[in-house]
Amino acid sequence: MGTQQMTPGPLSMNETSIRRLVIVGGGTAGWLAAALIARALGSKLEIRLIESAEIGTVGVGEATIPQIRHINTFLGLDEDDMLRFTHGTFKLGVQLNDWGRLGDSYIHAFGDIGLKPGLIPFHHYWLRSRGRPGAQNLWAYSLNAMAAAAHRFARMDTVPNSPLGGIRYAYHFDASRYGQYLREHIAPGAVRRTEGKVVEVKLSAEDGFIESLRLDSGEIVEGDFFIDCSGFRGLLIEGALETGYENWQHWLPCDRALAVASERAGPMRPYTQATARTAGWQWRIPLQHRTGNGHVYCSRFISDDEAAAQLLASLEGEPLGDPRPLRFVTGMRKLAWNRNCLALGLAAGFMEPLESTSIHLVQSGVSRFLAMFPDRYCDPRVVNEYNRQTRFEYERVRDFLILHYKATEREDTRFWKLCGSMDIPSELARRIALFRRSGLIFREADELFTETGWLQVMLGQRIEPMQHHPLADELDDSQLAGFLSDIRTLIGRVVETLPPHEQFVARSCGRPMAATELC
Ligand SMILES: Cc1cc2nc3c(=O)[nH]c(=O)nc-3n(C[C@H](O)[C@H](O)[C@H](O)COP(=O)(O)OP(=O)(O)OC[C@H]3O[C@@H](n4cnc5c(N)ncnc54)[C@H](O)[C@@H]3O)c2cc1C
Repeated sequence: MGTQQMTPGPLSMNETSIRRLVIVGGGTAGWLAAALIARALGSKLEIRLIESAEIGTVGVGEATIPQIRHINTFLGLDEDDMLRFTHGTFKLGVQLNDWGRLGDSYIHAFGDIGLKPGLIPFHHYWLRSRGRPGAQNLWAYSLNAMAAAAHRFARMDTVPNSPLGGIRYAYHFDASRYGQYLREHIAPGAVRRTEGKVVEVKLSAEDGFIESLRLDSGEIVEGDFFIDCSGFRGLLIEGALETGYENWQHWLPCDRALAVASERAGPMRPYTQATARTAGWQWRIPLQHRTGNGHVYCSRFISDDEAAAQLLASLEGEPLGDPRPLRFVTGMRKLAWNRNCLALGLAAGFMEPLESTSIHLVQSGVSRFLAMFPDRYCDPRVVNEYNRQTRFEYERVRDFLILHYKATEREDTRFWKLCGSMDIPSELARRIALFRRSGLIFREADELFTETGWLQVMLGQRIEPMQHHPLADELDDSQLAGFLSDIRTLIGRVVETLPPHEQFVARSCGRPMAATELC
């Protein structure tokens, strides 16, 4: 998974420079954009954020991927403090249950798998070992996966005195508290917050750029550049600029979700769970004080009542309220940046949270924007480049998600039959065919998911390569067996030294107990 540079070069200011930046929306996207831009360019810009408590935020978005840690570094946030505030836990990957066949379970673990003794990736050696006595599944060679299975965790960037990579992790947290945390850590005065509802967007008659916003209070807010973080409604990018939306529901047909928190029960797992159901899937996200749950489903194949019943029947603890309904159309805005308006978060597009990518797409959108920071004219060549890179990133994530649905052997419901038989984007079909034939996987440009991510999901979904790379034959049989068993032994030893996840959380970032909980 790639990292983009957050800091642009020194910005020279002149009469064409952007000075007034207006962000509409105070959900995770709005506050994350505000925090990052204020940190990078705060002294050069007047940043204003408008949000409406009456409209509120989407209130979901609790699982993340490891890139989120760069935000802490860039903003100078203390990880333990952030997790204490957001009641967060650590995440080593996503466990996917019942996707390939009912009863299947695998993890898409972050981090490396195995070791690379020569030119070719580890998994070719592992492929060669399949079917031999003592052969183990791929995940026996992933430190993250083995730690996750043991419910253990510690921060470990490298494994001392060993060639093994360390533990790569992300977070689970309370989504609304994360936005609040970011807001509280913006330098005083760097972002001016206005509570109010935008009721009108005024466009310039000359070039169609956004000139100003009118709030329900009557106040007019002018700006040089506008960031639309208004959520699904896309108030500026769609409501005012009519940019258009590309619908991907024919590939990712789920269109509704129900979200409900439940009392904490069971172990504090250091991973998200995503369990396939009859017409969608269900998430389970462990926080310190509760569990986040949700059912993402396709309304063509299951009623809302049935979806709610399935969700409630499989909670580990008592529900803490009624399931909250959400509707969405999977896809992306035709242009994430249109004229002097950039859309981020749900305003830019939506892909279901199966691999927890949405917050990351906000983060990378802001990084890209900072790297291409425009002047007031927003040169079309710059805008086009931003949109080209954004499309590439979205489409690769989209394909990765489609893989989970397409590569299924389930035929027990009409939904799964449809998924298994649907046409898929040609780029994804090419990747699957290449892997099936040769075991080869290549990560292109800055695409988000690495070879090991694709590898785990392809194998987890039962796509079996016909052969391994011939260079994996360079080791003789006993060398191969020794090589593999040494890695397993090393990983086993490291996992034994790790504390239980729950203990690590309690020690490093456990939230203070409320008085009522102590009685
Ligand atoms: C079911 C589901 C599960 C998800 N799970 C995950 C996950 O696990 N991981 C992940 O990374 N992402 C997840 N996401 C996505 C994630 O929730 C969003 O990307 C993230 O919360 C950002 O949302 P947002 O800020 O774009 O929109 P919102 O939270 O909807 O915020 C919109 C803001 O705009 C304001 N606004 C709207 N209209 C106006 C107006 N007229 N005037 C003034 N203000 C206005 C609102 O008040 C609000 O402040 C999930 C999404 C869904 C639907």
